[in-house]
Amino acid sequence: MNAKTVLFPDGIRVPAVGQGTWFMGEKESEFRSEVSALQLGIDLGMTLIDTAEMYADGGAERVVGEAISGRRDQVYLVSKVYPQNAGGEKAIAACEQSLQRLKTETLDLYLLHWRGSIKLEETVRAMEALQQAGKIRRWGVSNLDTPDMNELWNVPGGEHCQTNQVLYHAASRGIEYELLPWCREHEIPVMAYCPLAQAGNLRHEVLHHPVMQQLARVRNVSSAQIALAWVTRFDNVIAIPKAVQPGHVHDNAGALTLSLNPEEIALIDQAFPTPSIKMPLDIV
Ligand code: NDP
Repeated sequence: MNAKTVLFPDGIRVPAVGQGTWFMGEKESEFRSEVSALQLGIDLGMTLIDTAEMYADGGAERVVGEAISGRRDQVYLVSKVYPQNAGGEKAIAACEQSLQRLKTETLDLYLLHWRGSIKLEETVRAMEALQQAGKIRRWGVSNLDTPDMNELWNVPGGEHCQTNQVLYHAASRGIEYELLPWCREHEIPVMAYCPLAQAGNLRHEVLHHPVMQQLARVRNVSSAQIALAWVTRFDNVIAIPKAVQPGHVHDNAGALTLSLNPEEIALIDQAFPTPSIKMPLDIV
């Protein structure tokens, strides 16, 4: 099977499984292994890398900058701006600092990390200015629920948003009720964070669930690969697992070519039912 890909509205195709970087760059002693993990992931086809100015206070961007040095053109690079920086001069300065840490001239995608007190109009204006200045190719948002997305679409230029990055894994399926269909209708992919349900306060033991383990045994793959294949079963969802251990990186890349059949998906549906009412958006 060919590696699964997802199409952004501007026609750029990216792998359906990329690489996250939260908690990278925290410790100097881990720097080399984190750089190597990202480089291995790129070699294995996970060429979309997600980072943020927030992670390790810029430390994760430094790790990414080192990992992509000399191979920037092989990578689709995503970073995020703090809500308090997402407008006016602050947005320009924040983006320039991210670019410096990432040792690159341009981001492929720049996301509003979550909604703060700066008006969406102002954020869109800043994003469009950064785009015009060639500092970012496209922009998007993160952690916005459907009412926020509707509001964004009513702001001038708001419909140029390329994605919404939100929490999504088998034990947190709230977005399937309204937000995921909304994104499909508006032709933007969703970037699924915490796709392995391993990090943050909402840590769930998805990977150790008997159904995931049983499906993994039958397919001779890992339960993480089943979890990622499940998240990326739709053609408009990109999973961004974070992995430093080389075994994990290999595992996650393997999910690029793993598709679940309807019976397997039905078993996961039984084990982790999708909510039948609108749920508040999960965040970490
Ligand atoms: P993940 O669900 O990706 O879990 C990461 C954890 O899972 C790490 O401890 C990692 O271990 C472990 N792991 C990775 N691969 C495997 C595997 N194959 N088998 C078993 N364990 C594995 O959680 P994250 O919170 O990191 O989310 C992914 C990314 O999403 C973040 O790194 C970040 O880029 C983004 N994100 C965005 C947010 C937002 O607000 N927009 C919020 C949270 C995350 P190890 O590293 O030791 O290999």
